[in-house]
Amino acid sequence: MAAGVKFLDWYGDGSVHVVDIGLACCTLEFESASADLVARSEPPASGAVLIVVSGTVTDALMPAVRDLVTGVTASVPSTPLVVSFGACTSAGGPYWDSYSVTKGIDQFLDVAWYVPGCPPPPGALHEVCDAVRRGDHDQLSAGVRS
Ligand code: SF4
Repeated sequence: MAAGVKFLDWYGDGSVHVVDIGLACCTLEFESASADLVARSEPPASGAVLIVVSGTVTDALMPAVRDLVTGVTASVPSTPLVVSFGACTSAGGPYWDSYSVTKGIDQFLDVAWYVPGCPPPPGALHEVCDAVRRGDHDQLSAGVRS
């Protein structure tokens, strides 16, 4: 497991664990949504895992993000669901025409959920977690692209 990866037990019952790969301002919204939760470095033994990519991804950073997702995927019991949190991760956001900004993490990851906004509100993340807890999600579109 890569150093610094933290798992948040979103409901405290082991049903949904969330990892944030935070890169820019959208990460503040993630932190607001998860402020009361305890982060653990040990991967969960059961339950769903969400990997939230929040912030601006550059082409130079893309391999590191991919490696983090691969590392988390190898350490947990079920295939993680990747959440593209915010306009930057989904399409480059306000930097869409920058030569160095990745125009969407779905160029190198299979994304289960796109959350719109610049930034999205913290409640949008709660909605995704609630849907996963209910089992209302598509396990087919998840993980690292082969
Ligand atoms: S989508 Fe907006 S708020 Fe989020 S990282 Fe990009 S510029 Fe910042």
